[in-house]
Amino acid sequence: MQSSDERDIVDIRGLTISYRTVYGTLAALNSIDFKLRRGESVAIVGESGSGKSTLGLSIVHLLAPNANYETGSVLLDGKDITKLSTRQVAQLRGSTAFMIFQDPLNTLNPVKRVDVQMLEAIRSRYKFEGKRFNEEQAYAEAVQKLNDVRMPDAETIITRYPHQLSGGQIQRVVIAMGLLMKPKLLIADEPTSALDVTIQAQVLELMRELQHELQMSIIFITHDINVAHSISERMVVMYAGEVCESSGTETLVKNALHPYSKALIASIPTITKSEGKLNAIAGSAPDMLAPPSGCRFHPRCPYVMPICASQSPYTITKDGTEVRCFLYG
Ligand code: ADP
Ligand code: MG
Repeated sequence: MQSSDERDIVDIRGLTISYRTVYGTLAALNSIDFKLRRGESVAIVGESGSGKSTLGLSIVHLLAPNANYETGSVLLDGKDITKLSTRQVAQLRGSTAFMIFQDPLNTLNPVKRVDVQMLEAIRSRYKFEGKRFNEEQAYAEAVQKLNDVRMPDAETIITRYPHQLSGGQIQRVVIAMGLLMKPKLLIADEPTSALDVTIQAQVLELMRELQHELQMSIIFITHDINVAHSISERMVVMYAGEVCESSGTETLVKNALHPYSKALIASIPTITKSEGKLNAIAGSAPDMLAPPSGCRFHPRCPYVMPICASQSPYTITKDGTEVRCFLYG
């Protein structure tokens, strides 16, 4: 049994996950190490297909049925979810973490009013806590939660059906429903990508405030470095199913070490103030059914060395930054 640090809400070691596909086995995550402190906010960034969603889903055991935990452990609040029964996982998830997605409408039931759905969630928590359900009290709590997520006119909104709400309102309802369960961890997978810029900024602001007020841990998954920069204390950069670098957000933005992180940061003019000179990364994302040998980034890396094609780099820590690249030893 591996020892866990009480301060970590998530502790992933050596996690490899594959998907069964008609073309063969697709190695979506390769030997991932990832930790999240209680109360910490981390952004997971990387191109589409780099494994961000798979990593998020693996933490709450909500992977697609064709996914397979190959090796490694995933400690959520100290318990290895790869070793728990479906029932135990559901219990742990319900009391510990909740996940919101890009398309929150899918999370809500389209044929039930918001109040009905929120009351159901509260009822299940009461059951979990062994308390007697009191409808009036629960209703007041539901309205309060909508107020907590800064929902204007919560008393009216709660009586609506999901299709009667705007994208921003739906995302707030989903966050409020998540908060009903008093989670320690919120995993948000591109939660603002479908929203227009103003609403996106409001939802990000809300999540920052909630993290602060509730001391929640947040994993924010995004392909948008600007969003990651605005919400996280630490950034984890993924490429082709591997973590290349993990560092304090400001450090990463100012002084990325891994060649892929450097290119990613350099391509964002508003962060680097490089006046819009877009340093597109040469080459294309690898075929995940047959990923490159050695360092998966080596075919696109401007600093590639002979060893990069033959061996997989291990992670080294340099001034608080964890980087997986032969340039650093
Ligand atoms: P991201 O969220 O960074 O875009 P994903 O975790 O969704 O990346 O995907 C990682 C890799 O796994 C991609 O190559 C993707 O095509 C593949 N993948 C994701 N889900 C499935 C699935 N259910 N079945 C087969 N392959 C999948
Ligand atoms: Mg994704």
